[in-house]
Amino acid sequence: MKIFDEIESEVQSYARAFPRIFNRSKGEFMWDEDGNQYLDFLAGAGTLNYGHNNPIFKDILLDYIQNDGITHGLDLHTKAKGEFLEVFNEKILKPRNMEYMVQFTGPTGTNAVEAAMKVARNVTGQQNIVTFTNGFHGVSLGALAATGNSHHRDAAGVSLTGTHRMPYDGYLGDNIDTTEYLDKVLSDSSSGINSPAAVIVETVQGEGGINVASIEWLQNLQAVCRKHKILLIIDDIQAGCGRTGDYFSFEEAGIEPDIITLSKSLGGYGLPFALCLMKPELDQWKPGEHNGTFRGNNLAFVTAKAAIETYWSDNKFSDEIKRKGQYTSERLESIVAKYGDGNFNTKGRGMFQGINCVNGDIAGKITRAAFKKGLIIETSGADDQIVKFFCPLVITDDSLKKGIDIVEEAVREVCAKEDEIPEEKIYFETE
Ligand SMILES: *Cc1c(COP(=O)(O)O)cnc(C)c1O
Repeated sequence: MKIFDEIESEVQSYARAFPRIFNRSKGEFMWDEDGNQYLDFLAGAGTLNYGHNNPIFKDILLDYIQNDGITHGLDLHTKAKGEFLEVFNEKILKPRNMEYMVQFTGPTGTNAVEAAMKVARNVTGQQNIVTFTNGFHGVSLGALAATGNSHHRDAAGVSLTGTHRMPYDGYLGDNIDTTEYLDKVLSDSSSGINSPAAVIVETVQGEGGINVASIEWLQNLQAVCRKHKILLIIDDIQAGCGRTGDYFSFEEAGIEPDIITLSKSLGGYGLPFALCLMKPELDQWKPGEHNGTFRGNNLAFVTAKAAIETYWSDNKFSDEIKRKGQYTSERLESIVAKYGDGNFNTKGRGMFQGINCVNGDIAGKITRAAFKKGLIIETSGADDQIVKFFCPLVITDDSLKKGIDIVEEAVREVCAKEDEIPEEKIYFETE
């Protein structure tokens, strides 16, 4: 269709990697308008943890619309919002002994990050926020200042201020605990680091290349924050909502962030929805001080509530994610051992995984070869060197196996020596 070339901005990105016109989706599958089927291992960059058009949420949503339920509500109290809050409190917060105030921000992740950084600054009276190498927190100016990627940063057009970058876990090598460095500079009045309001961190860096912070590092980070009276903000927009196995990605570390951001899969159905959770004493907002027209996406409240009730009322879903995560790790380990020539390695936690191909050119060849075989899978990392496995968490065992088989084939083709290129195996007819 020529219209995309004619009038859609050059800013498009995913569309370039998967140049098809998609028109239908279900669970872990998508179809283009020619009827070709694709397995989706991109899953809306983590927005479709519960799959495309999840049938349980769809029925509830259709009912709600059919009965003229409120669609847009600014920040008015609505039945849908109240019910979401109740379920979120009963099934997510209370069982985890978490006491937080819930701020409905504008509906994208970057909106929640802006609110988190703003409230941290206003409450502490400090401007500086510590962020980490390879962190990604969104592209509006405040959040962009916390984002590491120069491709995104260079587009800002103004100086990005109010943040200070520190090395993430593993950045300086396996045996260096970078929280010791943070502690050191914060203890030294001559280090040149302004006393920060907060630290903002992802427990697993999604866009930055599936870099996993160790449980111990997260615990040490919290200890350093407490020691220096700095707020700890966990940006759980991508790693949360089950991706690592638990509802919140930091549960395993047993830490208690002061502020948490959620978005992406929070709405459940792929509908825009974001939240900023903060400890009650931090909720010092004045009425309307931080607002937004779309803080009341009631359709998303309805599906978000359904998602929590359906998947988070007991441990079954969490156990399933961990089991599938374990299978994925084993398969990726084996692919790396067979074809990685000692260069590749695996990264990740739960269903948040990737193969580090070290080189973006190779990773790109692998994802392109996989797409030809009917698998939608993207790269991430500073040089796009990571093949990122991000299938819906509700994927069937069969599809999970098939998707990884396709990647294995693709890796084999890309990494094979010239004289041993295997016969091409077709999984889905795509062209
Ligand atoms: C995607 C993402 C954001 C930004 O969310 P948008 O909805 O794209 O604004 C922020 N933080 C993390 C960790 C993300 O993965």
